[in-house]
Amino acid sequence: MVLNGKGAAPGAAVGGIFIYNEKFHIPSEAVVPSGEEQVHLDRYKLIKNQVLNELDEIKLSVQKIDPGKASIFEAHKEIADDIIINEEIPAKILKEKWAGDWAIYQVYETVMSVLRKTNDPLIAERAVDFDDVRARLLRLWYLKSDTNNDNSISDDSKKQNLSNLKEPVIIAAVDLKPSDTACLDREKVLAILTEQGGLTSHTAIIAKSYGIPAILGIKGLLENVKQGQLAAVDAQKGTVYLDPKDDVIEELIKKSDTFRNDKMNAEHFKLNEGCTLCGEKIEIGLNVSNNNDEEINAQEFTDFAGLFRTEFLFMGRNKLPAEEEQFNSYKKVLECFGKKPVVIRLLDIGGDKQLASLEQKKEDNPFLGNRGLRFCFSNPDIFKTQIRACLRASVYGNLWLMLPMVGSLDDIKKAKEIIKDVKNTLLNEGEKIGEYKFGIMIEIPSIALIIDKIIEEIDFASIGSNDLCQYLCAADRMNSSVENYYQQYHPAMFRIIKDAVNVFIKEGKSVSICGELGSDPAAIPVLIGLGMRKLSMGAASVASVKRTIAGLTVEKALKTAENVLALSTAGEIEEYLHERQ
Ligand code: PEP
Ligand code: MG
Repeated sequence: MVLNGKGAAPGAAVGGIFIYNEKFHIPSEAVVPSGEEQVHLDRYKLIKNQVLNELDEIKLSVQKIDPGKASIFEAHKEIADDIIINEEIPAKILKEKWAGDWAIYQVYETVMSVLRKTNDPLIAERAVDFDDVRARLLRLWYLKSDTNNDNSISDDSKKQNLSNLKEPVIIAAVDLKPSDTACLDREKVLAILTEQGGLTSHTAIIAKSYGIPAILGIKGLLENVKQGQLAAVDAQKGTVYLDPKDDVIEELIKKSDTFRNDKMNAEHFKLNEGCTLCGEKIEIGLNVSNNNDEEINAQEFTDFAGLFRTEFLFMGRNKLPAEEEQFNSYKKVLECFGKKPVVIRLLDIGGDKQLASLEQKKEDNPFLGNRGLRFCFSNPDIFKTQIRACLRASVYGNLWLMLPMVGSLDDIKKAKEIIKDVKNTLLNEGEKIGEYKFGIMIEIPSIALIIDKIIEEIDFASIGSNDLCQYLCAADRMNSSVENYYQQYHPAMFRIIKDAVNVFIKEGKSVSICGELGSDPAAIPVLIGLGMRKLSMGAASVASVKRTIAGLTVEKALKTAENVLALSTAGEIEEYLHERQ
């Protein structure tokens, strides 16, 4: 059988499927069959203990990578062991004859609705954690009852955790949450397959940065795969072969070897400067998605940190990071980069990035809602705390502070006022503040089209092509059913980038690109031809981008850009660019 999706991170792999996080289904109201009360109760107890063990294991492995995030798993253990819940569930099963899964669902639901109604946001936000623990319990309940009639826990269910994979596998999931990727055992993940997510979703970005082949947006994936089933993945084509024939296995093992060798060849370029064949310097930036040592040590072969996605400090945990914790994180990256600029993007929450530590109002169109800078404005305490941490850290390096999701001059002025106030407060407190630059993301067309009107207010900008594309083409970057409309090669993309870049060139100010388009080997000649001289990307792309640049001349790039601007559709542009590669 063959399944298709979008190849989101290159490569190929052959291995066994590991189904992660099977679809959560809400149990129906059911009574326990007469005489089976004790069986359901024993099953609940067994599952609860399994969840406690699972949480312990995850906590231990996450502790090694990111101690801040490990605390969330301790909190989840406390919930699973909660005295009231563990009195209520047995009582519902034994006295009221509720089926075990229905009892788990309902008892947790009751606690969650009480929490949600409290006026204290710190208490209300805990509902998210109860929901998480309940999903874990029910997942084990169904896995076990699908596979066994006795009360043992199957091996499959024990393996349901991305940090303790026993052998190399191909992950199949609906989607991966950032908290899933936080504990991903990269050595054991051969490939990632998901039903949801597009080319610029966070799963795609993480897969690319870890160098793991990924195919996203595969319709009907979980209905068609089985745990442990052999699969061959061709991420270049976006194709998965289930129970592949020998010739397909052979071909894809070869492809995987070729991909690895090609990557190794590109590695030779890693330590070189980003420089064209004709000697034009192209600055290469690093996108920082968490600040672990492995990632930020990539500063050795980059010229700047073009995007520090600070939201990853805030996600996958049940408490907001305090000012001090943030200060230490920013300081660490700034110190590591020394004199090289570090672009710290203020909190870009909303859209597909939600905070477990904050109950956010459900929105019908979250990508058009209270996202990025708008979220910061509506949560001034969170915003100000982050600015304080950044400004205090400014003395340790070369800080460039950047606003996400800017739509107007009013946005910029309002944010500047807040930053000024925070700065004055800090100075009054006797804090030292170093020099820093102030800039914006260009990702909403309304700002891209008036750069000439706002350029005076900023020192620099970075083009967020991932969001620019979704807003320009009116196609949700996470929704695989509209992926054909999400066209990064749309002529409007190159036209809007060209016009914005021209204003920066004229004013002698810095502009870079930090979206995925900036590391796309086919698009790089166009970007350079349009005048872009700074590209920022995940560490895994640096070597191959430098190799692409080394094979270019500015003259060739100018010609490529001119030809692309003359074309009328994304399809024509794609064909033209791929023919040239
Ligand atoms: C972008 O939108 O291009 C970008 C770099 O930001 P993010 O992907 O984090 O939204
Ligand atoms: Mg963005």
